[in-house]
Amino acid sequence: MKDLVCNGCSLLCDDVSAEIDGAEVKSLGLCRLGHAHLSESLKTLTASAVIRDGGKEDTVSIEEAVKQAGEALQSAKQPLLYGWTTTSNECIQEGLVLAEHLGGVFDSPVSQGTIQAMSHDIHSGKLDIDLEYVRNNGEFIIYWGTDPTESLHRHPSRFAVLPRGEKIPEGIESRTIGVVDVRETETMKMANHRLIISIGGDSELIEVLTSEVSGKSSITGPVQGIPAQELLSIVRKLQTSDCTVIFYGRGILNSNNADENLTAIAGLIGAIRESGKEAYALPMFPESNAMGVVNIAGNKLKQDLTSLQKLLAGEFDTTLVVGDDALAILPGPAAKALAQTNLIYIGRPGTFTDKKAMISIYSPDVITGIPNTMTRLDNQPFNFSAWTRDDVSEGMLGILSKLNGFVKK
Ligand code: SF4
Repeated sequence: MKDLVCNGCSLLCDDVSAEIDGAEVKSLGLCRLGHAHLSESLKTLTASAVIRDGGKEDTVSIEEAVKQAGEALQSAKQPLLYGWTTTSNECIQEGLVLAEHLGGVFDSPVSQGTIQAMSHDIHSGKLDIDLEYVRNNGEFIIYWGTDPTESLHRHPSRFAVLPRGEKIPEGIESRTIGVVDVRETETMKMANHRLIISIGGDSELIEVLTSEVSGKSSITGPVQGIPAQELLSIVRKLQTSDCTVIFYGRGILNSNNADENLTAIAGLIGAIRESGKEAYALPMFPESNAMGVVNIAGNKLKQDLTSLQKLLAGEFDTTLVVGDDALAILPGPAAKALAQTNLIYIGRPGTFTDKKAMISIYSPDVITGIPNTMTRLDNQPFNFSAWTRDDVSEGMLGILSKLNGFVKK
């Protein structure tokens, strides 16, 4: 078995290993999601390309696909370059250069919630602690609007719930776990406090907790259907735990109240800190390199927040999708509008976006051994290096460089 870094999600687990045994992949430490991602990625160790026209599909060389993609992008009125959350930091940088050469718009799924969260006062672009700090110090852990068992499988076992840490000598026995969501989740099974609230009820609950932590005796009856006794027990825990960490997810960000919710969480963190205890908020973005996009392209994305509206208005005639399965993740009307553009795709085969694209270029994933970097959920950089073999050909960076070279000519 050889050590590798997994990019099946934004945890970028670097404590795992794997080997290929005939047709089978054997892994140690990878979760179900990571093992599936690795197995799938190993099907594409060599770059290849197809061009589709009127239901006909032809395999072409990378050079031919790059030439046709470059010509389509150059002749576009205004191209959109979209995706990037599963690509490496080097690819994101190359994508920004390409967008500049083309006079196109660079955008990413992170402009729907992620970038707003990282720009909000709660973080102002940086995080106060990393996940190792949580493992060593996190005493009261709250998952709010996020279910790591769905998308960040090893988050509880590596960092936040099960492991022992410097100030957490007995692992889960030394921690208290709270889960707040609008439905019962798998993560709730390991929680001491399970709060099911109504959709949009987050800020009301957070503000009541904040007020009570600040000593205002605001809890006189149930809030959001949670009995007063349970709420007061949570408040006591917030006041007595040496280190509280609130992990917030899509439930907080994907509502119309994202800003209000984040402001409320920041208020609660502030109230706990004023009472003399440590408290932090950390995001739960599952896309493997969402943080890389935020760090490298954040300023650009803030200027281009309206690109989905532009897409709906038919302003883009050609789209280059890189990495993400845009047609699967965009809201229905935006996905429909995207599918109507001249679609060029660089990524893994078999996605919805691939099947709709007029040009698809398939590139090996960094997990197979492309020496690039990605940025973990908590802003820590991780290097990927050769794993399967030394001759994994044409990573996505090589393909983007060729495209840039063609466009620059
Ligand atoms: S938690 Fe994420 S990074 Fe870790 S092994 Fe699973 S999929 Fe891979």
